[in-house]
Amino acid sequence: MQPIDRSLKKVMQKPDFKTRLSKMRMMVINQKEVQEFLQEHRAEIDDKMIDRSLMKMYEYTTQSKQCKSCPSLDQCINLVKGYEPKLTLQGKTIDLQYDRCPNKIAHDQEKEYKTLIKSLHLPREILDAKMGNIDMERGRAKALTLVHEFLQNYENGKPAKGLYIYGSFGVGKTYFLGAIANELAKRNIQSILVYLPEFLRELKNSLKDSSLGEKIELVKTAPILMLDDIGAEAMSSWVRDDIIGTILQYRMHQSLPTFFTSNLGIKELTHHFTYSQRGEEEALKAARIVERVKALATPVNLVGENRREQK
Ligand code: ADP
Ligand code: MG
Repeated sequence: MQPIDRSLKKVMQKPDFKTRLSKMRMMVINQKEVQEFLQEHRAEIDDKMIDRSLMKMYEYTTQSKQCKSCPSLDQCINLVKGYEPKLTLQGKTIDLQYDRCPNKIAHDQEKEYKTLIKSLHLPREILDAKMGNIDMERGRAKALTLVHEFLQNYENGKPAKGLYIYGSFGVGKTYFLGAIANELAKRNIQSILVYLPEFLRELKNSLKDSSLGEKIELVKTAPILMLDDIGAEAMSSWVRDDIIGTILQYRMHQSLPTFFTSNLGIKELTHHFTYSQRGEEEALKAARIVERVKALATPVNLVGENRREQK
């Protein structure tokens, strides 16, 4: 290693190397974010520390720190995709640390949801649903207006009520939810869309393992939740009171936006929750759950033709 070491020393002692180094040093310490960091720690940092950490600080200046406004993870330009750089002070050393950016956090969270909850899987066409594809034909304008109101309120930090979209089979209710979810994703707002009958079946199968609580917790606390096809599940008092009831109760208290779709109107939904498969009649419990649905979401009827017949 001797010869290399010696030649490196030689290079470093060349006058033009020194000039370039001092130019780079100037460039680095004058960069806006570096300046802010040096200002913040001006009592603790001296010139020697800067010289020792110059390469790390240089790397810092070459990386994007505008990660909050980055459109997507795919477009990340940083050395380590999805990580944003931060200068830190470790004793007498200036260090460079990489943390997950907001897009990466959302991406990882979605992966976590998807590995845990199988019923999150939705058909490709729903995953690609776009707001622009929803025609404004009669009966849809109200739903679209409500969605725009929701987006505006939510983004401005105001209370934002979800939608209870009901209507007949095949009119595009699930598609509508998918379009809202994608619209939110475009604005870096995360939501999860769960096909409720399947989710409940999955929960029943998780009774034996330990993932039941974890699955419920994820859905309960999701920043924005979309429950597809409420009313199509096999009803039991366990499903109604322990699962759906618990989830909705929590979301109501925490003001967490919740959307629903259903083939049933509110009155029919009440009827659905009144009779369990065992034939018990529990009007009060049914009323309680429907009250929660109404507190969380504004009912809106989606009309249109059955698109599935055309396929
Ligand atoms: P619902 O949930 O009301 O039963 P879906 O949302 O599943 O209906 O829609 C039925 C079919 O029509 C699906 O294949 C869906 O992808 C398609 N579809 C619905 N709305 C649209 C739309 N606006 N543009 C394109 N395809 C749509
Ligand atoms: Mg549907």
